[in-house]
Amino acid sequence: MTHGQIANVDLVKQVNSSAVYRLIDSRGPISRVRIAELSHLAPASVTKITRALLEQGLIQELEHQASTGGRRAISLTTVTRDFYLVSVKLGREELQLTLYDLAGQHHAHQVLPFPRRERDVLLAALHRHIADFMQRHAGTHRLMAVAVIMPGLTDAQAGRVIHHPSYPLAGVPLAQALGDALGLPVFIGNDIRAQALAEHYYGASKDSLDSVLVSVHHGVGAGIITEGRIFKSQGRDVAEIGHIHMDPLGDRCDCGNVGCLETMVADAALLHQASRMLAQGYDSSLAGQALTMSALCQAALADDRLALTILRRAAERLGQAVAIVVNLFNPQQVLLSGALCEAEEIVFPIINRAITHQSLPGFHQGQPIIRARFQDDQTIGGLALVKRALLEGELLQRIMEPKS
Ligand SMILES: [Zn+2]
Repeated sequence: MTHGQIANVDLVKQVNSSAVYRLIDSRGPISRVRIAELSHLAPASVTKITRALLEQGLIQELEHQASTGGRRAISLTTVTRDFYLVSVKLGREELQLTLYDLAGQHHAHQVLPFPRRERDVLLAALHRHIADFMQRHAGTHRLMAVAVIMPGLTDAQAGRVIHHPSYPLAGVPLAQALGDALGLPVFIGNDIRAQALAEHYYGASKDSLDSVLVSVHHGVGAGIITEGRIFKSQGRDVAEIGHIHMDPLGDRCDCGNVGCLETMVADAALLHQASRMLAQGYDSSLAGQALTMSALCQAALADDRLALTILRRAAERLGQAVAIVVNLFNPQQVLLSGALCEAEEIVFPIINRAITHQSLPGFHQGQPIIRARFQDDQTIGGLALVKRALLEGELLQRIMEPKS
């Protein structure tokens, strides 16, 4: 066989195995006969693939009474608790590490300051922290992969960082570099896009194939899931709704433009507005308090006029941007993540009104915006990236046929 033919045989194997694994994951417990019907694979192929999956402990057999009575029937389900991964959030001068099993359970968590440094020193430190964490917490667990998520822009397909707001990592093939050093597959991606996928696999948009997650924290971003996948452009990030232009006379944004949504509704922008209004002598229960998003939300919930005004204005602008996204993508579900969810009763109805009035009636389908499930789990996106690699066959193949 030529090299090309060998590559094709491998690819067909990978596609077939992942199709079988995906069916067992989404429809299990499921019989081999049903898998063959749904996948259009020959029964002999299904038997061969499921044998290999069983050997690796990725699936298990369940024996039960057939519904027709008599003979015992055997169904298959995936095994998620025996497989572990480390998810790393390379944040803004902070590193968070979590050990998860594939079912989404936490087993260990660590947060460390991670200061800005020169590139090679930074990479060495990152590797050392992950290796230490693995050694201390992963122990005898079967580690399948490491995921690194981050704010900024990535080329997830190539495993390359395009831009990180805090570190000089532009152009670094991070997945390859860490993968070689750790001896495990490494997947990277943007944190918000990965969180949107986590909400789809495990969270609030589990029942929808098409959803949008809008995240308002330090910045404002979105993750768009279409037909169960992160919407991307040639493997690169999209959905930077924080940089939708809202005000030609607005404040200067980190991106270099002015009047971006982010400069009006991100946490820092809201706190800045509050402190400016307090300095101008507006009456508020926030005067003399430490200004935090939680304090702002609580004041608004207690009917403080200044806090209410700031949150209402932010919700209106956010609603305008979300309505644009709804018009473009017609999602079944829109999720919101961020500190301002603490004032959900104030913020959500305003966003819903904007969606209702500013997007096509058939598009919002009367579905209100809902709170994302993983508000505080900063590393959850990494779990989703590993799950995706498994479902789409890339990681599955490496587990089934480890390269010697
Ligand atoms: Zn901007």
